[in-house]
Amino acid sequence: MTDPRRLVPRTDTVLACPELVQAQRRLGRDLVKAAVVVAQQRVRDGQIAPDDVVAQVLAALPPTASSSRRVLNATGIIVHTNLGRAPLSPAALDAVAEAGGYTDVEFDLTTGHRARRGEGTLAALTEAVPAAGAVHVVNNNAAALLLTALELAQGKEIVLSRGELVEIGDGFRIPELLMSAGARLREVGTTNRTNVRDYAEAIGPGTGFVLKVHPSNFRVTGFTAAPDIAELTGFGVPLVADIGSGLLTAHPALPDEPDADSALRAGANLVTASGDKLLGGPQAGLMFGDAGLIERLRRNPAARALRVDKLTLAALEASVRGPVTPVRAALDVSPDDLAERAAKLAAGLAGFGARAVESVAEVGGGGAPGVPLPSAAVSLPRRFAELLRAGTPAVVGRVERDRCLLDLRAITPEQDAELDQAVRRCAS
Ligand SMILES: *Cc1c(COP(=O)(O)O)cnc(C)c1O
Repeated sequence: MTDPRRLVPRTDTVLACPELVQAQRRLGRDLVKAAVVVAQQRVRDGQIAPDDVVAQVLAALPPTASSSRRVLNATGIIVHTNLGRAPLSPAALDAVAEAGGYTDVEFDLTTGHRARRGEGTLAALTEAVPAAGAVHVVNNNAAALLLTALELAQGKEIVLSRGELVEIGDGFRIPELLMSAGARLREVGTTNRTNVRDYAEAIGPGTGFVLKVHPSNFRVTGFTAAPDIAELTGFGVPLVADIGSGLLTAHPALPDEPDADSALRAGANLVTASGDKLLGGPQAGLMFGDAGLIERLRRNPAARALRVDKLTLAALEASVRGPVTPVRAALDVSPDDLAERAAKLAAGLAGFGARAVESVAEVGGGGAPGVPLPSAAVSLPRRFAELLRAGTPAVVGRVERDRCLLDLRAITPEQDAELDQAVRRCAS
């Protein structure tokens, strides 16, 4: 009778205890039951006492019913594609929660009739980019390019420079994406140098449009040349600029990064960009242009397959209209503030081998390649890297010269205490 294995509490009894009834409301019965089964087995194996089953289950339950885990991004890469690119602002998260139920995304509450989908979001984007006559939003920038190719260049040629045949990531390449829309590519110039005459000679009756692609994740230096947008106007064919990063207007700290408003002013007929890079919003493809062209894109049959959901529209509007986004805050934070925060954290964690060090952060695949952002980090013994990744929330740092660096560039000041706690939990 003293054998604990004979005292394993019954599943129904455990699930009926108030804390776990509460947990089932939040997570659903299956997830909680799975944790109970694991805890029961630990009792049978003699690892925990029968009385500890509920506490064990509570400790093992995931924070939400989704398997995606929250990460503190201490890599120093602000727009980190593998970590979900831009983190949403609290204002955008509120907007998502509000739009999550039934919402007026496509309904006019005044008249009681159908309305244009995402009207408020489109208005916010049009106001933010004064040179844009109209805006259309699709799933991502790749979808924006696909829709453009389908509408303007199916069975025709897209003229673009050999220096701008970009691979976006994960093996996806813009040229192949464009060809999948039934367009032919007319590559002009060379890898390092392309001039206006190269474009002029290639443009003809079979041209669908001219495409300028911003090299957002690499840099070509040395003997290079590429015409500006302004030099490519006047050929009588649409000029499309894929600016990549999604800056709506110029950012003083990133002078070489193109922005939608300037590109339109320079003469582009259509500008495409991502919503979750420097704009700091949700994944989306933004298309800015004159009203006639945007209407054609909106009416293309494929537009329906590429459209965004109400959650994206809500988050996007709040990111544009609301307070400064986390990405923008991370770009604009002063290196002195970062150094001060790193010093304070390292002093508190000195017992674990922490010290404050200078660091170099970057925007990431989302833009401004090769632009160093001075930063500060907490340096820890290397073994912390793996331990921190396993924690809740997970912390992802950077391993450099056999040390684990926690760069503060993409960590908000509010998250410093969480970072401190995460390190302490690893050490215990
Ligand atoms: C990131 C990027 C893309 C792809 O954008 P997604 O929003 O990830 O689809 C396309 N073009 C350029 C220049 C980019 O930088």
